[in-house]
Amino acid sequence: MTNQVGTCRWDWQIAEVQAIYAQPLLDLLHQAATVHRQYHPQPEIQVCKLVSIKTGGCPEDCGYCAQSAHYDTGIAPQPLMPVAEVVAIAQRAKAQGVSRVCLGAAWREARPGKQFDQVLDMIRQITALGLEVCCTLGMLTPEQAQRLSEAGLYAYNHNLDTSRRYYPQVITTRSYDDRLNTLAQVRQTPITLCCGGILGLGESHRDRVELLTTLANLRPHPESVPINLLSRVPGTPLAEQAPVPIWEALRVIATARLLMPKSDIRLAAGRAQLSPSEQALCFLAGVNSIFSSDDGQMLTRTTPCPSYQQDQALLAQLGLTPRPPRSRGQTLTPGDRPSPSLEQLQRIDINE
Ligand code: SAM
Ligand code: SF4
Repeated sequence: MTNQVGTCRWDWQIAEVQAIYAQPLLDLLHQAATVHRQYHPQPEIQVCKLVSIKTGGCPEDCGYCAQSAHYDTGIAPQPLMPVAEVVAIAQRAKAQGVSRVCLGAAWREARPGKQFDQVLDMIRQITALGLEVCCTLGMLTPEQAQRLSEAGLYAYNHNLDTSRRYYPQVITTRSYDDRLNTLAQVRQTPITLCCGGILGLGESHRDRVELLTTLANLRPHPESVPINLLSRVPGTPLAEQAPVPIWEALRVIATARLLMPKSDIRLAAGRAQLSPSEQALCFLAGVNSIFSSDDGQMLTRTTPCPSYQQDQALLAQLGLTPRPPRSRGQTLTPGDRPSPSLEQLQRIDINE
């Protein structure tokens, strides 16, 4: 292990990341497990619950997504859920050991108005339950980021999904820079950032290395990094992609752990297709956050999710416990923040 692997850096070169990623797998896993233990010494896993507060009918054409109006996936568009219904789900989740509730909306961007106010209400009420709230609402303006922050939002999720160069093969209705711009808006507030990608979109190893490099060069690193394994949705252009071999997923997880040692690495979509021992390997490689559910699904019924009971049994088997909720102040590390300007954040990208 070089002395720079497993320290927080924001100037990674692609060749360095490639060298970490391409090591013999057991060497990579050993390094990642060592760094993971060093930075996350408690035997804890963050258990999150995802609620699709506005499902389907999205104008974006993300080639993987069941909710895009561009594809016939059998998901009927639904209106924004009532606040009381979402809060009741959060209460049930809390009783099951969940510490973070993630509210997902099939929107290209958040729009000011009644619906946005309704989401602010959800944030206030779920935060008042003592839970972390994360939202993923598409693109944000600076004013919207500010209002979300004032409502107490803990985290904003906005994934880069893949490398800059592969991105147009997957999504054409927005650009990589649109994505980076929203990340920059969030960084102007005390809201923490949740940003990661998807494996199995047909991307190359090089694309995975580039995505990891981009994420690791965001300063500060996203506090949460979701790694999704593509859920192959019939009717989408990516329905016929080959499943991601567990060995490749482990390589990405371990590399992410080494590049972003403080961050939570979340095994998100695709965990339901892994055996308990495969999941245990993911925890060893650096995963310390998962989605769990009471209805067997993540965002829609096309993305299965293990149940609270299954996960409680798995964690108990492995000697892990659900992590209690944190406050924003506990998570944000001021030393990592150079207070960059918006322009600097927009420029942050790959160092060739
Ligand atoms: N509309 C918002 C946006 O795209 O930012 C939020 C909702 S979106 C469904 C949240 C994330 O879920 C996406 O960024 C993508 O990374 C992930 N996702 C969606 N569909 C997926 C699938 N079929 N398989 C794996 N991950 C998926
Ligand atoms: Fe819309 Fe988000 Fe799905 Fe893309 S991933 S189609 S933006 S809901």
